Amino acid sequence: MEAREHTAQVRYEDRIDREERFRKGHLPILYCSPTMELGVDIAELNCVNMRNVPPTPANYAQRSGRAGRSGQPALVFSYCSTFRPHDQYFFKRPHLMVAGSVTPPRLDLANEDLIKTHVHAVWLAEAGIHLGTSLKDVLDLSGENPSLALQDHVRDDIAAISPRERAVKRAKDVLSDIEDWLRETDWFSDQWISEVISQVGTEFERACERWRGLYRAAARQVDAMHRIVNDHHKSHDEKEKAKRLRAEAEAQLDLLTESQNVVASDFYSYRYFASEGFLPGYNFPRLPLSAFIPGRRRQKGVDEFLSRPRFLAIAEFGPRAIVYHEGSRFRINKVILPVEDRGDGEDIVTNAAKQCETCGYLHPIHSGDGPDLCERCGQPLSIPLRNLFRLQNVATKRVERINSDEEERLRLGYEIKTGIRFSRKSGGLSCKTASVKDGENVIATLVYGHSSTLWRINLGWTRRANKDQHGFVLDTERGYWATNQQDADDAEDPLSKRKRRVVPFVEDTKNALLFEPVQDWDDTVMASLQAALKNAIQIEYQLEDSELAAEPLPGRDSRHCLLFYEAAEGGAGVLRLLLEDATAFNRVARQALSLCHFDPDTGEDLRRPPEGKEDCEAACYDCLLSYFNQGDHAILDRKAIRDFLLRFRDAKVDLSPAVPPRAIHLELLRNQCQSGLEKNWLQFLEEAGYNLPSKAQLFLEKCKTRPDFLYDDKMVAIYVDGPHHEYPERKDRDAQQMDCLADVLTYQVIRFGHRDDWEQIIARHPHIFGRRL
Ligand SMILES: [Zn+2]
Ligand SMILES: [Zn+2]
Repeated sequence: MEAREHTAQVRYEDRIDREERFRKGHLPILYCSPTMELGVDIAELNCVNMRNVPPTPANYAQRSGRAGRSGQPALVFSYCSTFRPHDQYFFKRPHLMVAGSVTPPRLDLANEDLIKTHVHAVWLAEAGIHLGTSLKDVLDLSGENPSLALQDHVRDDIAAISPRERAVKRAKDVLSDIEDWLRETDWFSDQWISEVISQVGTEFERACERWRGLYRAAARQVDAMHRIVNDHHKSHDEKEKAKRLRAEAEAQLDLLTESQNVVASDFYSYRYFASEGFLPGYNFPRLPLSAFIPGRRRQKGVDEFLSRPRFLAIAEFGPRAIVYHEGSRFRINKVILPVEDRGDGEDIVTNAAKQCETCGYLHPIHSGDGPDLCERCGQPLSIPLRNLFRLQNVATKRVERINSDEEERLRLGYEIKTGIRFSRKSGGLSCKTASVKDGENVIATLVYGHSSTLWRINLGWTRRANKDQHGFVLDTERGYWATNQQDADDAEDPLSKRKRRVVPFVEDTKNALLFEPVQDWDDTVMASLQAALKNAIQIEYQLEDSELAAEPLPGRDSRHCLLFYEAAEGGAGVLRLLLEDATAFNRVARQALSLCHFDPDTGEDLRRPPEGKEDCEAACYDCLLSYFNQGDHAILDRKAIRDFLLRFRDAKVDLSPAVPPRAIHLELLRNQCQSGLEKNWLQFLEEAGYNLPSKAQLFLEKCKTRPDFLYDDKMVAIYVDGPHHEYPERKDRDAQQMDCLADVLTYQVIRFGHRDDWEQIIARHPHIFGRRL
């Protein structure tokens, strides 16, 4: 019996063909992802089998409603997996799913990124820019070595002033309906719309970058392979291989510039700009990474790019991972290296960062050794993690077979570490803090960071010989990942001499919540609370398992905090509610109690789930266990958290930032000051309510200078000069350093002499310092 799949990853033509054949009854079985949930009607359909319980009653209604249209009888059944708590929960309470109430879809209107995309759309309409079918209609692809710069007419249209003014006005009208909502966020202000519009050119350029990177890399491969094919000194085999790689790169160029089938292409301009977060878009991964899948030459196979959200791509598109697509296996064997930052002889760009070993807070290092103290909790930081390599788009190669060793390694997956960094506003951390109070005692704090920066770092295979060795060997010239020495038959892509061990990472912004107990609780309590709170939040707010992620910070071997983040596009906006809705946290604790087989009112141990057949001693798939927390199964224990959950149930959640983030930040800056004059300068800013700098005393290696302060995000270096700067030699050196900062690092330098009128200097730069309060 023939069966086919129907997912967003299947080519558009094939999808249509399969729907057609399925409708006619020629194709008896169709395996579907949620792509079939909406809009596709098949009158004769008489059976729907759901592989798992759908996320919400709304999804259930949609999916089951595919069958039995126009009053015909139909059979609908749902498989409830033993290993998914969600499935087990509804298996015990089927009426909540089958006849459950459909809640309206939740959209977080306070999500800045989301509102921004709509403002961009308003502007695009006002500017009358037509984006064509692919980016070849937007960028300059002419000539032998195309610049890929914006085409002249596009650049002029983007720069035009009057559409911008109209867009500001229209966006104000559009948003006026939700203005009350926006006023409550910490990012919206009267200037916000104008600021977004003023940045529209830069943002547009940024959105083009992934496409440019893919195009340049493919074009370069075509050239390089072409040279080999025409080189008479090369062997027949080398030439054949080069021909194959040239054809592969040409296929990539075709995909990028395709103008047929625009509806189907990920690179259709409007869809592409949505996936890059420039325009609104709700049903495909935002900021994805792409994997090139070569078609099968001899059959009618076609080349494709698969795309995945980057937080999943860090593992799914990890070095030498296997992806399954249309019944075949493909190995990620190569990184599509960006061309621009690598002239000949230049190495790939890597990053460094320090992660706080107490709270998991992340500190990217731009030069030197980075900060010594954690910006968030003030604890000392240890050695930096270096050779961090931002994971790029990748390419795959078909594989026939995998040996048992590799299978085991794949099964255990990678060791992935997460780090968090709150966004910044006016030089301080932008986050909300609430304390969880048991009577007068604070037992834990909840910190919510809107659009926080999260890094996921791939440290290596979970199963690796040396646990202290991080990362993977990358051929920095050709982009191949080194094979694993243990696999004899895995030696296919010869590496060049330029090899380097790198640690892949991805970055994204998410709404995140840190749960930080005041005292240290043991691993069992922390791991069990993590599972219980995650499941309870999902039930309370009808979230899908994949919409909410939970992890211990700084890591699994040291569970000091629990990090929750909204994995969904746009964010569901529920984590914020745990601080802002006074009883939300208590309700979640009640859900967690019932999940863990306790009576939420009395705390009595009911020992098993409703209608369960066996007692649950420590944990079962009804309470804490899930397929995704297998690593924690051994230490999970529902009884260990009963008393904690009872205290949470009655706790008072006080949204009263005990210490405003600005004050903590100011204190950290003050501690780093080298002179009284610098302290006075900070005090001056503080009293007037001006924006504080982001860093103090950071050594900038390239210019051999240590500015007193930096406004990182605005690329401004500040010197507060005492009397000794008035000597001539000193003046010369200062001037040299200023030139270097300006030319090499493109920093703007602002000096505050001890005799200067600081107020006057500040007034000249309102975009840096803000306005006097
Ligand atoms: Zn810390
Ligand atoms: Zn249980």
